[in-house]
Amino acid sequence: GVEVQLSGETRIITVSNQKGGVGKTTSAVNVAAALAQVGARVLVIDLDPQGNASTALGVPHNAEVSSIYDVLIDEVPLAEIVQNSPESPHLFCAPSTIHLAGAEIELVSRVAREHRLRTALDEYLNESDHRMDFVIIDCPPSLGLLTINAFTAAREVLIPIQCEYYALEGLSQLLGSVHMIQKHLNPNLRLSTILLTMYDGRTRLAQQVADEVREHFPEEVLRTVIPRSVRVSEAPSFGQTVIAYDGQSAGAIAYREAAIEIIRRDAVDRKEA
Ligand code: ADP
Ligand code: MG
Repeated sequence: GVEVQLSGETRIITVSNQKGGVGKTTSAVNVAAALAQVGARVLVIDLDPQGNASTALGVPHNAEVSSIYDVLIDEVPLAEIVQNSPESPHLFCAPSTIHLAGAEIELVSRVAREHRLRTALDEYLNESDHRMDFVIIDCPPSLGLLTINAFTAAREVLIPIQCEYYALEGLSQLLGSVHMIQKHLNPNLRLSTILLTMYDGRTRLAQQVADEVREHFPEEVLRTVIPRSVRVSEAPSFGQTVIAYDGQSAGAIAYREAAIEIIRRDAVDRKEA
């Protein structure tokens, strides 16, 4: 196997982009599964009412299941809703259910509406049984209160960018939101990682987009790019990540490399600090 050194601290990473269909959920679950495979303990928080991350991790999330909705709205402890993914004893998921669709509105009138996820997560991580190396939050495609809760709880933002037309469109709005959160709610938040997804190396366009993103964000873009691959898109219909579904596929290999880069880059940051 690959040698990796985990820091011993919990890295809380939110996977965000207000565009839909850019690979947020796919990246959240596959990076999480790849991290778990190299020995990290990983909790995925599904903050999208669609519940696609819960599906991909093989975790039940029908309307009767206790979910992140109950945590955010009724202050149910996170420990009561977290499930183990059948994929790995190190991989956990706080599922979303369809009720979460109402949470965006219901949160508006709640006390500490921007901090509710952070409070729940702090409480959860304080218990020694719940030691995690990574918490990965899968955001919905909007910059509403659910995403703000994720930004307030996290230290790092990971932005997946689809290598297609308009890739950079909307990015300044997203970065503007990150700055606003840094200023008012969470000074520790930083854009740590950009992951290029659905890359098709045969097209000039994909290469041009990748070059352009690297030019703008030389420090943040991972060297690894995720190729467009049918195996990646098939995996969720089997309730699996591509890591479990077809570990030798190009997509699985790329997500493993991305995960290792994410671990190593943090180690480099620490040396420089
Ligand atoms: P988001 O969470 O940003 O809305 P998803 O992760 O759900 O985006 O991805 C959107 C669609 O693209 C899904 O159908 C997914 O299966 C597919 N997809 C994501 N990454 C890849 C990839 N590398 N290769 C092929 N299909 C992909
Ligand atoms: Mg999604």
